Amino acid sequence: MKVAVVKEAAAGERRVALVPDAVRKLRAAGVDVLVETGAGAGAWLSDDSFADAGASIVSRDEALSADVVLLVGKPDSETITKLRRGQALIGLLAPLTDPDLAARLAAAGVTAISMDMIPRTLPRAQPMDALSSQANIGGYKAALIAADAYGRFFPMLITAAGTARPARVLVLGTGVAGLQAIGTARRLGALVSAYDVRPETRTEVESLGGTFIELKSVGSASGEGGYARALTEEERQAQQDELAGHIARHDVVITTAQVPGRRPPLLVTADALKAMAAGSVVVDMGASDLGGNVAGSLPGETIVEGGVTIIGPANLPSTMPSAASAMYARNISALLLNMIKDGALAIDRSDELHAGVLITHEGQVVHPALAGSDSASASSAASAPAETAPPAPAETAPPVQAGTAPPVQAETAEPAAPAETAEGTADV
Ligand code: NAD
Repeated sequence: MKVAVVKEAAAGERRVALVPDAVRKLRAAGVDVLVETGAGAGAWLSDDSFADAGASIVSRDEALSADVVLLVGKPDSETITKLRRGQALIGLLAPLTDPDLAARLAAAGVTAISMDMIPRTLPRAQPMDALSSQANIGGYKAALIAADAYGRFFPMLITAAGTARPARVLVLGTGVAGLQAIGTARRLGALVSAYDVRPETRTEVESLGGTFIELKSVGSASGEGGYARALTEEERQAQQDELAGHIARHDVVITTAQVPGRRPPLLVTADALKAMAAGSVVVDMGASDLGGNVAGSLPGETIVEGGVTIIGPANLPSTMPSAASAMYARNISALLLNMIKDGALAIDRSDELHAGVLITHEGQVVHPALAGSDSASASSAASAPAETAPPAPAETAPPVQAGTAPPVQAETAEPAAPAETAEGTADV
């Protein structure tokens, strides 16, 4: 069986689906690995390093003729036209927000397997959980970006030239990315508060040394499988109003809130931004072309309004391509090895894991969260450009099992309260 890694299609994407260690594992399992020339360059992985691990370095066309093609992100239209019936494609295909892509892959007769549909709470699927591995990187990097953009210190510092109080950081949304942002900001010495509509995350926030904020006006919005549900219009308004007071008291806000299959909820309104002090920094991990957690945030752009820096980072995991590729390679090779039997891809649709990730098969969109929807019909979507796909409604979210919390690291106690500024020294 031939498995191939190709260069990513998206502009600026620096990750690669396999790293040499993962190639060795697949070779040991009897899999032939093809790597497109230069596929690892963005992650500082040379063709030689892949060849040393046992891969064959080939042209793009040869790589695209393999039995299974591995990607990090979505294939572009040109790639899809080169695929043939019966081939398999594995990547983060986001079928819930881009059902047209699924339909086009079905029309091409490709077996599409999506890494973001892994049933995350299934214990044997945990090594395959690419959403978590990449969200961890995103949360870490969001905190670093915030610290970099903030014009003061994160930790408390007492120096002869003045005393710096610790930065007050607020993290909104405490899933995998939010918890990593909390841990990272705490390691930098900031005082961190956090909020989530799932009150069960309180213990995780506190275990990282953060303070959990409970809103009086909004109750629990825990949805299925450990995810949040979308809020009603009244809840959303109440949440925004009450959050505004907390936001105004913080120097840095990092937002990570998501509801599966929906556009990110707006948590920081234009009025809330106006109430922040000049010099504050907001990092919106949810920034997207459809809108993010923060009013006015734009993906890939930094804007300054009323002295508040609003950063909409684009593709944070790609900014740490070596770590992100290594983690993703472990995720995707674990899934692949789970699906290989007697030297061939053997999809068992009675297996909850396989059924969870299988999006298209034998010309049909087969995932229960998509099959039957209008945009999932191969004929209607073959001509529809992916960019026009609206976010999928909440009802299309996949059934996921209620599960355990992701691992969180224990942290040291809250930093000491800032000492009174000694007379004659300036605040820094
Ligand atoms: P996510 O990216 O879907 O959402 C991020 C966070 O945003 C969530 O905590 C969500 O509650 C929050 N949120 C959504 N709407 C909000 C709003 N209006 N206001 C405030 N917060 C809002 O979440 P995720 O990081 O992918 O993780 C989701 C769940 O999956 C968690 O329960 C996590 O513990 C669980 N999980 C379990 C495992 C496992 O069992 N191995 C692995 C990974 C994740």
